[in-house]
Amino acid sequence: MTISPPPHFVVFPFMAQGHTTPLLYLSRILSDRHITVTVITTPANYSAVKSTLKNDFITVIDIPFPNNIPGVPPGVEITDKLPCMSSFINFVEATKHLQPGFENLIRTLPNVTCIISDGFLIWTQDSADMFNIPRLIFYGTNIFAMTMCNIMAQFKLHAGVGSDDEPFPVPGFPRFKLTANDFDPPFNELDPKGPGLEFLVRQQEAMARSCGMVVNSFYELEPEFNEYWNRNYGPKAWLVGPFCVAKAPAPVVGSQGVPTKMIEKPTWIQWLDIKLTKNEPVLYVSFGSQAEASPEQLREVAVGLEKSNKSFIWVVKPKQLQLIGSGFEERVKGRGKVVSEWVDQMEILKHEAVIGFLSHCGWNSVLESMCVGVPILAMPLMAEQHLNARMVVEEIGMGLRLWAKGMVARGVVGANEVAKMVVELMDGEGGRRVRKRVKEVGKRACGAMKDGGSSSVTLGSLIDHVCSSVHSTI
Ligand code: UDP
Repeated sequence: MTISPPPHFVVFPFMAQGHTTPLLYLSRILSDRHITVTVITTPANYSAVKSTLKNDFITVIDIPFPNNIPGVPPGVEITDKLPCMSSFINFVEATKHLQPGFENLIRTLPNVTCIISDGFLIWTQDSADMFNIPRLIFYGTNIFAMTMCNIMAQFKLHAGVGSDDEPFPVPGFPRFKLTANDFDPPFNELDPKGPGLEFLVRQQEAMARSCGMVVNSFYELEPEFNEYWNRNYGPKAWLVGPFCVAKAPAPVVGSQGVPTKMIEKPTWIQWLDIKLTKNEPVLYVSFGSQAEASPEQLREVAVGLEKSNKSFIWVVKPKQLQLIGSGFEERVKGRGKVVSEWVDQMEILKHEAVIGFLSHCGWNSVLESMCVGVPILAMPLMAEQHLNARMVVEEIGMGLRLWAKGMVARGVVGANEVAKMVVELMDGEGGRRVRKRVKEVGKRACGAMKDGGSSSVTLGSLIDHVCSSVHSTI
C-alpha cells in the first residue's frame, strides 16, 4: 500500500502587516491539520516571518525583492515602512519582479496542491495558471466590505446624491444607508480612471481566474453578505476565520522543558499590571500599522484623551510621536502611556485592565478586539475602514462611533467628541451595551473556529475542494 504525501500549500502574503499576519495565522491552522505549508516572503521580512512561525513545522523561503523602485527606498520591503502611501502602487508594481523567483521556486518544491496568495500579488494567478495549480485569493477584509465595494462599482449608487455625505440606500439591504465618503477611490468616483482603477481591474481579472477566496471572517457574522457575494459576484467566498484565534506560538523551551530564559514583560504590560491592581480601567488606542492620521487629527485625539480623564495606552508610530505635541506625556503622566514601539496588540487587548479600544477599524484589529471581548470606539481613516466602522457599530453593535463635525464620515474628529465618547465607552450606558454585545459575538467568533464550528467545517470543505482539483506541476 502506498501512502500519499500530505497536501502541500504554498502561502504568499502581501508585504503589509495587516495582510501578512492573518496569513501566517492561517498557515499555522493549516499546518495543525497536517498540511505541509511553505510560506514565501522576501529577505527583509524573512526574520519577522520566521520568528512568528518559530515553533511551527512550516518552511519559510525568501525570494529576492527588486532594487531601484521609484518611491521605494532600498531595503524597504513592507508597505508600512514606505515614506508615504503615494508610493503604494509603485510598491505593488515592484512585486511583479518577484515572479521569476517565485516560479523557479515552485519548480523545485515538492508537488504543490494549492497556492494561497494575496489579491495584491496579481501575477501569482499567472504563475498558478501556468503550473495548473489551484489558487485561493486572500484580501484580508470581510465580505461585507467586499460586497459593498462591488455593489458601488456596479450600480454607482452615489450618482443621484447631492453631496458625498448624503446617505443613499443600498439595493438588497434596506436596513442601512451608506455615503460616498464611506468609500475610497476608485469606488467613490463616478468616472474613475488612472492607475488606481487599472490596478483594481487587473485584480478583478485575476480574481475571476482564481478558484476561491479565503475570508478572515465567519458565517454567523455576515451571512447575508456571504450569500449575496456568492450569488452575484465571485469567486466563491469561504469564511474560515477569525484566524487570530489560532493558538499562540508556544513559548521557547529548553531540552528539559524549562523556558530558556525568563522573558521580562514589556514595560507597557507591566504598566497595565499596575493599572489592574489599582482598579483603573484602560483604553487602548492604536491606528494600526498603515494609516496615517493627519497631524491635526493626532493633536485632537491627544487633547481629547487628556480631557477625558480616563487611563489610556496609546501606541503611535515613531514618526508621529512629535506630532502629538510637546508636554503631552508629562501632562498625562500616571494616567496615560504613549508607546512608540511595535507591540503585541493581542497581548494588550487580552490584558484584563483593557476595557476599550479606540481603533481605526483595520479588519484585523476589529477581529482581535472581538475575539477578546473588548468594545471599539471607531475612528476610521482610510481604505475599507469606514465600512468596517459601520459594520462594527451598525451591524454588529460592538462599538461606538466617533464622527467629524456634522456627523460626517471624513474630516477631523474634534477633541470634545473624542473626550465625550471615550467617557461614554468606558463608563456610559452605550459602553455597557456594546461591551455586553462584543462578549457575545466574541464567543461566537471563537466557537466558529472550534471543531464542528462553521469556520472549521468550511475550512475542511475548502481543503477537500482544492485537493480534489485536478492539477499537475510542470
Ligand atoms: N499590530 C501589532 N502591533 C502594533 C501595530 C499593529 O501587533 O504595534 C498588528 C495588529 O494586531 C493587527 C495588524 O498589526 O494584527 C494591523 O492590522 P489591521 O488590519 O488592524 O490594520 P492595518 O495596519 O492593516 O491598517
